[in-house]
Amino acid sequence: LLLPLGAFIAAFAIGLVVWLSRRRLSPLRELQIAVRKREFIVHYQPIVELRTGRCIGAEALVRWRRPDGSLVRPDLFIPLAEESGLIAAITDQVVAHVVLDLNRLLVANRSLHIAVNLSPADVETARILPVIEKALQHTGIRPRQIWLEATERGFVNIDSARSTLIRARELGHAVAIDDFGTGYSSLSHLEGLPLDALKIDKSFIDTIATNSATSSVTPHIIDMAKTLKLKIVAEGVETQAQADYLLERDVDYGQGWLFAKPMPAAEFIAYCRRMKPSA
Ligand code: C2E
Ligand code: MG
Ligand code: MG
Ligand code: MG
Repeated sequence: LLLPLGAFIAAFAIGLVVWLSRRRLSPLRELQIAVRKREFIVHYQPIVELRTGRCIGAEALVRWRRPDGSLVRPDLFIPLAEESGLIAAITDQVVAHVVLDLNRLLVANRSLHIAVNLSPADVETARILPVIEKALQHTGIRPRQIWLEATERGFVNIDSARSTLIRARELGHAVAIDDFGTGYSSLSHLEGLPLDALKIDKSFIDTIATNSATSSVTPHIIDMAKTLKLKIVAEGVETQAQADYLLERDVDYGQGWLFAKPMPAAEFIAYCRRMKPSA
């Protein structure tokens, strides 16, 4: 009788441990733990000059690497991070990675820049600027090699956003508006902002060389960007037809699967070596 009872108790104990360890934590709790354990890494997607095909840098795109090795896309956790205020700590981890991953590459090649995505809260509080300043200390990276991407969506306080962007440029960074065309970007609203570049949202690039209803909007978006006399980056370029169209319209830079997908730091460094940026 004792033997089966012992086996039963052992099986029960093992079952309990497995159940406890698999019990699902709330998404917020999981994200908090991930932040504490620094589970965020960065992939880099090359940005190329359309006229020459030369790589001018990359966008830093965050990924959450779970303990099982799987990667979670930012769309699935950035909204929760923004709502909960965890985004600030995640942005810090992205900045730390950029410096650690690419210090040598950026010092060896001054023409390269890395664009970091900022959430509206990052832009409104300006807390990130001293964080970047500190991260760049004791590296050879120059402030102008760090671009900051801000979306127009979600600014609660446009005045504090503006003063952060002004300060960022005083420090030497370039500032780009991300997902251009999808927000409330009336020109008047953007004209007051200190900007260097506009990134035209993928949804407009998607319609190029199609006959969809919105394809007629894209040339106007490009013209609008041009009237602001800013550098233009087209995001989500997937086909040669799109690249040809953009080149015809004097769009400066492109980013998309046609050129390269986002990749781990080591691959991006190898990519740059292969491409030998001419400049
Ligand atoms: P985004 O800043 O507009 O970044 C461009 C997104 O388009 C990236 O998605 C990129 O992988 C994807 N993409 C680029 N080229 C192509 C293409 O040719 N075809 C297709 N189908 N997709 C393309 P990803 O990496 O999933 O990032 C999604 C969004 O998450 C970003 O959009 C950005 O808003 C946000 N995000 C990413 N990293 C960060 C970060 O470090 N901080 C913050 N606050 N947001 C981030
Ligand atoms: Mg971006
Ligand atoms: Mg974008
Ligand atoms: Mg976009």
